[in-house]
Amino acid sequence: MGRVIGIDLGTTNSCVAVVEDGQPVVIPNSGGYKITPSVFAITTHGEQLVGYPAKRQTITNASNTVFAAKRLIGRRFASAEVQRSAELYPYEIVEGPNEDPRIRITDRTFSCAEVSGIILREMKRVAEEYLGESVESAVITVPAYFNDTQRQSTRDAGRIAGLDVLRIINEPAAAALAYGMGRDVDEKIAIYDLGGGTFDMSILEMSDGVVEVLATAGDTFLGGEDFDRRIVEYLLAGFQEEHGIDLRSDSTAMQRLKDAAEKAKCTLSLRERAEINLPFIASDGDGARHLTCEITRDEFESLVEDIVEQTLKSVELCVRDADLSMKDIDHVVVVGGQTRMPMVQQAVTDYFQQRPHKGVNPDEVVALGAAIQGSALVGGTEDVLLLDVTPLSLGISTYGGHFARLIDRNTTVPVNKSHIFTTTRDDQAAVKIRVLQGENETALENDLLGEFVLAGIPPAPKGEPEIEVGFDIDSSGIVSVSARDMATGMQQSITVNSKSTLSAEELELIIEENALSDVEFKR
Ligand code: AMP
Repeated sequence: MGRVIGIDLGTTNSCVAVVEDGQPVVIPNSGGYKITPSVFAITTHGEQLVGYPAKRQTITNASNTVFAAKRLIGRRFASAEVQRSAELYPYEIVEGPNEDPRIRITDRTFSCAEVSGIILREMKRVAEEYLGESVESAVITVPAYFNDTQRQSTRDAGRIAGLDVLRIINEPAAAALAYGMGRDVDEKIAIYDLGGGTFDMSILEMSDGVVEVLATAGDTFLGGEDFDRRIVEYLLAGFQEEHGIDLRSDSTAMQRLKDAAEKAKCTLSLRERAEINLPFIASDGDGARHLTCEITRDEFESLVEDIVEQTLKSVELCVRDADLSMKDIDHVVVVGGQTRMPMVQQAVTDYFQQRPHKGVNPDEVVALGAAIQGSALVGGTEDVLLLDVTPLSLGISTYGGHFARLIDRNTTVPVNKSHIFTTTRDDQAAVKIRVLQGENETALENDLLGEFVLAGIPPAPKGEPEIEVGFDIDSSGIVSVSARDMATGMQQSITVNSKSTLSAEELELIIEENALSDVEFKR
């Protein structure tokens, strides 16, 4: 088998790494950058752009430039997260088959897995150019708090990119692998990972090359984008007050504001104040209007205080789930670009009563860990064993709409468990198994991953048939469920294919189309 690359598929940026001579290295793209923006665009001439070329033309082609697709992947169109994004993002989000959110740019519609697939294909290309050989296999990282649907959609994206996804691993676990490599120590570490779109908190134990995740918590819709958004709202309100103009419906102006907000945010990580200067942002009867203002670090911090607070709630839950106290934690590692903000670093320091470890590059550490795992899977890197957990409880819906939990959150994967259920009516010939993921006691409040019917149960009084439902979660966190009638031995099983992921036929079609467009000159 050829070399396995590790890809950190980020909301804002992606990064690819490989193990060379026993050491993981980040692979730079052709522009020499170690990270590539997770941005995809189609120009007015129909040209498809990925990475920096796509990012650079965002302002002039806002409605045909897709960013942050990771925030949408594996979600339902009607979910609050997708609806909020549809309001905020300059590109169009429409409802596809089975409540799947689709992205429409120019006259084409893409699934989120397809957009992520295009980004992954670019990362594959970057790796192939560097290595001078074709790359077929990858380990891809996802936020630890991704549910089954989001994981499956990410795996689909890998297939669309022409990659055999050997494993999907959680970002904090990958960071721990990279952090722990070569450190012959026995430590418990906390990883606080605040990226562009997601927040993950994990506590891990490392000893003798074994990285064991003790607990994980987080929020898949909380990240740097929300910090930018607060500055955008602040600027919009100020501009409206001064000029009486609402810029919300002007997609180019909104994109300029978003860009300026992110730049100001990054400046405020280094300086006490940042200037925002956007000439000709609008015009009215009196001519052109310009937006000029200054924002101080204090002002910015007061705008985002509650977001930082919110991350600490997940931190608290995670420490509790790991059954540890603060003094048990040897080191705190911060990962993700947003942790460069001094207020975030301070909040972490205050919470854990220790300064975060500075030795890792928050942009690169996840991809490095993915490469280490990839190499270990094909026997290239020895003495690495990653024991991860499932972030959310898994179960089925039972009579009365209750959630019967079969696997608790933070259980080490792979895992399989089964339980015997029965009928609720006399002579009931079939049962419907609704597979759910979440923490709520009410079934409907959790994510429905999928459902299937076990039919042909022989007539019997209610409560008599014995139906064994087995759950299996593999090392990538992907769920399979089976149901068996103990009397007849009849069995139904599925890899839970959520309603909102691509159908098998659609996926094959997209893979075929992408393979067709992948032809290159041989000489
Ligand atoms: P990641 O997903 O890890 O690539 O993180 C990307 C997020 O980090 C984006 O929201 C960036 O705006 C943010 N970010 C990058 N550099 C800085 C910085 N110096 N200060 C604050 N946020 C930053």
